[in-house]
Amino acid sequence: MASTAIGELNFPARVLLGPGPSLVHPRVLRALGMPVIGHLDPSFLTILNETQALLREVFHTNNRFTLALSGTGSAGMEAVLVNLIEPGDAVVVGVNGLFGTRLATIVERCGGKALPVEAPWGQPIDLQVLQEVISRSGPVKAVAVVHAETSTGVRQDLEPIGRLCREAGALFVVDAVTSLAGMPLDVDAWLIDACYSGTQKCLSCPPGLSPVTVSERALAAIRRRHTACRSWYLDFSLIADYWEDQKRLYHHTAPVSMIYALRESLRLVLEEGLPARFARHELHSRALLAGLAVLGITPLPAPDVRLPMLNCVLVPREIDEGGVRAELLDRFGIEIGGGLGTLKGLVWRIGLMGESATAGNVLALLTALGAILSRRRWARHPEQAAAAAAAVYAEAGRENGITP
Ligand SMILES: *Cc1c(COP(=O)(O)O)cnc(C)c1O
Repeated sequence: MASTAIGELNFPARVLLGPGPSLVHPRVLRALGMPVIGHLDPSFLTILNETQALLREVFHTNNRFTLALSGTGSAGMEAVLVNLIEPGDAVVVGVNGLFGTRLATIVERCGGKALPVEAPWGQPIDLQVLQEVISRSGPVKAVAVVHAETSTGVRQDLEPIGRLCREAGALFVVDAVTSLAGMPLDVDAWLIDACYSGTQKCLSCPPGLSPVTVSERALAAIRRRHTACRSWYLDFSLIADYWEDQKRLYHHTAPVSMIYALRESLRLVLEEGLPARFARHELHSRALLAGLAVLGITPLPAPDVRLPMLNCVLVPREIDEGGVRAELLDRFGIEIGGGLGTLKGLVWRIGLMGESATAGNVLALLTALGAILSRRRWARHPEQAAAAAAAVYAEAGRENGITP
């Protein structure tokens, strides 16, 4: 095609209710469009400092090394491991979904020895099994787990693992890509040594940056390395030389516009307040599940380990999973996710992350899904799904004054 035939950027209106990216607030989009200034301009360095301060607040940490890496959540995953792990290091990895599996893969690529602690997809890692593996494995350099396993909708309890790690002298590595700003996460109190996230899930910022925080204990381990970090681009000591106030050495050009966007999204998070934001995610998940129950659709994980921001639900066998998802997108402009790996074709992953978590979106999805399933002659009263969710909102309004 001749390049002159390629027209203006054209994209459809979408309601993003998948596993990410989530919807982006207009203030963040505006920040993204602000004039680009130099990455060493004193005004930009102030913006960097402010972004770090906001990140510390959202991560609940005093870690000096708290910054945003250039790259998506996966860059944070790779960076933490490639900096901490040296050839021969043993790393215990919780494997109960796609992202735990990736952690183990990257450990091996770093030359480390991954010691997987497995659980079926849809269940959390068992603390007792984890403890046994740690204690019978000799010196363990680190323990890595996923806080919110986006492939299965399962929450992992972190606090007891932090204590286990301290007792064993191991570093505690946490994937908080989906959990950050959507459910409680307390990096310092839970004794987490390295934690990474992504911008496009509950922070509701476009994909492109990976917020990371690293404890002094982990930094000391990095300084004790016998070999240089195998990645030059993701080398924490080189990156710190740019983010550190006294140094500001050029390493790579900071993604200036994305930093503007992240700063604005963090401001929005803290304006809402973390407790209110967590409560909002809980409420909309509850309303969604009440509506889905009317359609005979139930969550995969048990109630006490369910994620509020990522609802992983079983698709009834009689329903063509992909066909319904395509119709939601084509006819209603609503995106939800399908299953990954062993859950492919078996589940839907409905994200209610950040800006996407609203009563309007929940009711729109349930109405659209009700209409689609009604044409497939599925469920007795599909049109009542939205009403069930609305009842949850009405009840919440009476109980504690949350206005959905
Ligand atoms: C999305 C996600 C990642 C990867 O993030 P990208 O931004 O896609 O690179 C890693 N871990 C978890 C738990 C995720 O949900």
